[in-house]
Amino acid sequence: MKPEFPIAEALPELAYPARGEDTPSPELLILNEPLARDLGLDPSWLRSAEGVKYLLGQAGGFALAYAGHQFGQYNPLLGDGRALLLGTFQGYEVQAKGTGRTPFSRGGDGRGPLDAMLREYLISEYMHAVGIPTTRALAVLTTGRKIQRRMVVPAGVVVRVARSHLRVGTFELVRNNGTPDMQARLEEYAWSLFPGGVNAVAERQCRTVAEWMGIGFVHGVMNTDNTSISGETLDYGPCAFLDMHDPAASFSSIDTQSRYTYGRQPAILQWNLAQLGFSGDFVSLFSDALQQVFARKLGTPDPAKINEWFASLAGKDHTLAHASLEGENPQVIPRNFVVQRALDAANEGDLRPFEELHAVLLRPYEKPPAEYQQTAEVYTTYCGT
Ligand code: AMP
Ligand code: MG
Repeated sequence: MKPEFPIAEALPELAYPARGEDTPSPELLILNEPLARDLGLDPSWLRSAEGVKYLLGQAGGFALAYAGHQFGQYNPLLGDGRALLLGTFQGYEVQAKGTGRTPFSRGGDGRGPLDAMLREYLISEYMHAVGIPTTRALAVLTTGRKIQRRMVVPAGVVVRVARSHLRVGTFELVRNNGTPDMQARLEEYAWSLFPGGVNAVAERQCRTVAEWMGIGFVHGVMNTDNTSISGETLDYGPCAFLDMHDPAASFSSIDTQSRYTYGRQPAILQWNLAQLGFSGDFVSLFSDALQQVFARKLGTPDPAKINEWFASLAGKDHTLAHASLEGENPQVIPRNFVVQRALDAANEGDLRPFEELHAVLLRPYEKPPAEYQQTAEVYTTYCGT
């Protein structure tokens, strides 16, 4: 198999060839076989020793450069410090995260904890199941290493799939440090994949963030390097779902200023789109998107009813309040404590709770067993880097 890398051909200045580090005893824990087949990848090959090496980036790949505003501060060079692009298949990029150091790793080890990788798998596949634009998850592997984070934990790799990994931060890097020729090639490449330029990026992102508001998703780290051009939800580090509806909800241990709370997500999106150069009417674009989401969830397009409903949500369980309505509302979300319990078991080598939860989450409109619907009060996520 010879993967293609159209982004590296179009913008070689942004793509650094790199190889995944050796792994003591790698194991493929989870493979999304239907997704593999959609990509034209043979599941039995992916399960072979050669396939596993490929998924760990050991057959080579590319680390992509980008810049970005992190918590409002501009960082002129970020890039894939622990991820490698493995190729483009059927129009989708496959990228492995946690594969070891790259030219962009700075002080980091290029690795990631297994539980964070499983978390990304679970939540991104849930988002897909409820129709929210997102990267998908193809696989999770263990490497056989232990790494030091808050505790010593097993390391893992998640392999994810996106229409594109171009982000607002890619445009910031090229605008600030690229040549006019690079700028032209970036735009040609990006807008041939996604016609409509910056305005269409804004429309897609408004739709995505409006869906987050509908389902009670708090991304937690809406830096411009995590805001994709495709509109796909990108980077499931410290994200979490609301239990109680609360505009001030923030779960991430690294978001000490509460910049990325549930209620601030639209304003942050507006700010991020401004960094991309969007100068259209954000307020009307976003309110149209939000109106569409809540009209569907409430079964009425009446803006007065939607406003009244939104005001009545404070202090109620966001998911259960919606699930009690007629209309198109999920009965289940990846509840923080349930997810944590499954990840703790996985860290101890028991994948059964993860698999049970995964199966429940892939049928979001069915009433789950009661334990999956319990409301919790407080929760903190640790970004897992
Ligand atoms: P994230 O918060 O995952 O979007 O990462 C922000 C930046 O930090 C990106 O440039 C990552 O590649 C980099 N990064 C995160 N974790 C690590 C790590 N363990 N080693 C090297 N770079 C990392
Ligand atoms: Mg990121």
